Amino acid sequence: MSKIRVLADHVANQIAAGEVVERPASVAKELVENSIDAGAMRITIEIEAGGRRLLKVSDDGEGMVRDDAVLAFERHATSKIRESEDLAAIGTLGFRGEALASIASVAKVELTTLAESAKAATRVTIDGGRMRDVKDAAHPRGTTIAVRDLFFNIPARRKFLRSEATETYHLTNLVTHYALAHPEIAFTFVNNGREVVRVAPAKDLRERAFQIFGAEFLENLLEVNGGDAQVARVVGFVSAPRDRRTSRDSQYLFVNRRFVRDRTIGRSLSDGYRSILPHGVYPAALLFIETPLEEVDVNVHPAKTEVRFRRQAAVADAVREAVKNALASGGYARPEEPEQIITATATATASATPSIQITPPQPRIDFIPEPSGDEIARDIEAMIQTAQQYQPKPPSDFQSAKSVAFNSAEKIAKVPEPESLSKNIRPLGQLDESFIIATDDDGLLLIDQHVAHERILFDKYRALEAERRTESQQLLVPETFDLTPAQAAVFGDLAPELEVYGFELMRLSGRTVAIKATPADLPAGEARNMLSELLDTVDAEKKNSARETLRDEIAASLACHAAIKVNMPLAPEKMRWLIDRLMQTSSPTTCPHGRPVILRLKTKDILKGFHRI
Ligand code: ADP
Ligand code: MG
Repeated sequence: MSKIRVLADHVANQIAAGEVVERPASVAKELVENSIDAGAMRITIEIEAGGRRLLKVSDDGEGMVRDDAVLAFERHATSKIRESEDLAAIGTLGFRGEALASIASVAKVELTTLAESAKAATRVTIDGGRMRDVKDAAHPRGTTIAVRDLFFNIPARRKFLRSEATETYHLTNLVTHYALAHPEIAFTFVNNGREVVRVAPAKDLRERAFQIFGAEFLENLLEVNGGDAQVARVVGFVSAPRDRRTSRDSQYLFVNRRFVRDRTIGRSLSDGYRSILPHGVYPAALLFIETPLEEVDVNVHPAKTEVRFRRQAAVADAVREAVKNALASGGYARPEEPEQIITATATATASATPSIQITPPQPRIDFIPEPSGDEIARDIEAMIQTAQQYQPKPPSDFQSAKSVAFNSAEKIAKVPEPESLSKNIRPLGQLDESFIIATDDDGLLLIDQHVAHERILFDKYRALEAERRTESQQLLVPETFDLTPAQAAVFGDLAPELEVYGFELMRLSGRTVAIKATPADLPAGEARNMLSELLDTVDAEKKNSARETLRDEIAASLACHAAIKVNMPLAPEKMRWLIDRLMQTSSPTTCPHGRPVILRLKTKDILKGFHRI
């Protein structure tokens, strides 16, 4: 007997619902997207009991005639694409034609709709995928869909729903996302009869962000405006470095106004902040990526929250550059420059003067002490004299001199072997108030001041901890801070380890914690940032790992927070001190997080670059 059967429609729909309908917020997402696709100018979302009992979305969009209202619940019924070629350039949010069918298969749904051309509105009632009723009703132009008792017929799924607070959080987050992506649409969000969000049509993103987050949030944001139309335009806002978040919750990312959870964009956003924000800390961002429709595949996942870019790397570059430039215009970083290209061209018969094209970045170098014009002239003269002692060799092989392209910093400046570092390191000044420029017997050194200090402090904390000699400073007024539910779960395990390092913590009522004392070098303002960062990163998995690992983690975090920051001017003595102490550490060339601390540009390579050897 044959064993294969084609599944009945309602079973197939329930299976599809497993992918489309994860939780109330995913239902809301599909419904709101439908309203936007229908050209709505006003969208209202109402929920009860975290969306389990009721989730209702009304719009003033184009509505549906009766036949369409019934057809809309069929699987693969859509008005948005017709041919498979249409999949290559999707301009609507929906297109798979399975959302309504999926939702109706796992809830009790009532749809009321009126199209301009219809005489009367239609009401369609469906329970668990079974059509109950189709009749006339009263409704202004547009559509209202009420979804009740989500997963009423699938107890297993119902059990997986989280608390009302969690589901409401996800719903609020979702409404916020769509309200930001569509400033021209008025949004209202009502939770258990209470109006939580109400925003009128706004003229642009800035005004909408103001309506939702208020003036203070906006004040701290830097405007992003970059990329190019062929690959990706990148517009929106990112937070200034002093504004730190311990999760990606404040990052709102969109691709062609579609809310996405995209790793590429998230990562390039962080790359834009590299060396400005420490590891494990995230900026807030509202970023809109606009790409030509054929550059992005949105048909990757049933819930359409993942996308695939045709030119992934180019999009990543565009995002990183745009973010970096925004930080630069706020004075927090150097603008992203085109890669430095040095090309030497020569023909077999040409003289030994190759034409050199340089696109020079204009670094801001602060030398110490600020030399007068005369002194500079003298120094340059001395440099020229020294250089002239080397007899430049005429290039014997023109082919090898033909193209010298330095396209990445690591190619010319390398992390030195720790053994090769001599005592004879002399600081000259700072680059961008972030890197110490120094010389040693082998060439030029660049030292990342933040990670250098991190290494010094890490070694110090580990040593003090081993000797049980950590010092604390009492806070005059204990600082209190509220743990998230997830943080509260790990707090108990982490607290004793933190106390080893000099923290004094007290659990007050509920999820509130008071910080009574902090490790001696930790600036008071950093204690809270550090704690919540650690509580977020030390998850269940690490919690069970060796105590030594946990202590290393705490020492690294402590070092990172207590260390001097980038973008900080350093007096010459301070640079000296930093270098001397760094040389005494266990590993002067890498920080506790594994990043390089020092880069060296060898004199030999400098000479080569100037064609002197
Ligand atoms: P998709 O959005 O992928 O086309 P859906 O199952 O979400 O599939 O919706 C099916 C169809 O129902 C849509 O193509 C659209 O024509 C119609 N529709 C759904 N919601 C609305 C709405 N709010 N206003 C007007 N038409 C709608
Ligand atoms: Mg849809």
